[in-house]
Amino acid sequence: MTMQQLGKNRGGYLGETIDIAAVLRDCVAAARSHHWSVEALPAEPGLDLWAFTRPAATSTTAPAAFRAYLSAGIHGDEPAGPLAALRLLRDNSWPARAELCLLPCLNPTGFPLNRRENARGTDLNRDYRHLDTAEIRAQLQWLQRQPPFDVTFCLHEDWESRGFYLYELNPERRRSLAPIIIEAVAPVCPIDLSPVIEEREANGGIISPNLDPNSRPQWPEAFWLLQNKTRQSYTLEAPSDFPLPTRVEALVAGVRAALAAL
Ligand SMILES: [Zn+2]
Repeated sequence: MTMQQLGKNRGGYLGETIDIAAVLRDCVAAARSHHWSVEALPAEPGLDLWAFTRPAATSTTAPAAFRAYLSAGIHGDEPAGPLAALRLLRDNSWPARAELCLLPCLNPTGFPLNRRENARGTDLNRDYRHLDTAEIRAQLQWLQRQPPFDVTFCLHEDWESRGFYLYELNPERRRSLAPIIIEAVAPVCPIDLSPVIEEREANGGIISPNLDPNSRPQWPEAFWLLQNKTRQSYTLEAPSDFPLPTRVEALVAGVRAALAAL
């Protein structure tokens, strides 16, 4: 789809912001109304992360088809992720046999400041190797207790990009969900077709980093997940210089298409 960029972002994200406390209240209400289990993960006094789990609609004869993990809101200047999580929870149209875990906001103190880092100034998505922050320690304490996932999705935005793109980590070369996601997003949001995105080679909006996590001093969430809980990970990046509803739609469409294809 073609669509004009807003041209708002100069040196950082300057678009719409959200009331994260209200969005999370709505997420909790939607999760409870659809019978998800809802856990508050204590990070610090007065600071909890929310984790929602939806068991598959299993019978004794048929086990869950797959387990998927979704997280959003690790960067406080990327409002589309938590809003996409809310949309997905409210719509509640998941594949029946999917077991799902969803963390709608990993950085609750960053959003009121509209900044990437948490209130203490740490980029949480670089803390998965050293675990210096209470938020990531609380998240991982919970994640360690979860069985592995067939696939994981981390919902992000990029304030500089010209369109939607994604990172795929798929070292065992399982059937790729990347083209399915791109195809589903293209009708609702422009795709960034640049040959290089964020200094990495890209192909049709897909970045497949050559990965040796042990060579990297700081780990994003996707690295930790790949090392510990999954063998197939997608980081979806919606372009922040387009209208917020477009970015939310892009993330929702990408997640839906990937889950439907599993
Ligand atoms: Zn991000």
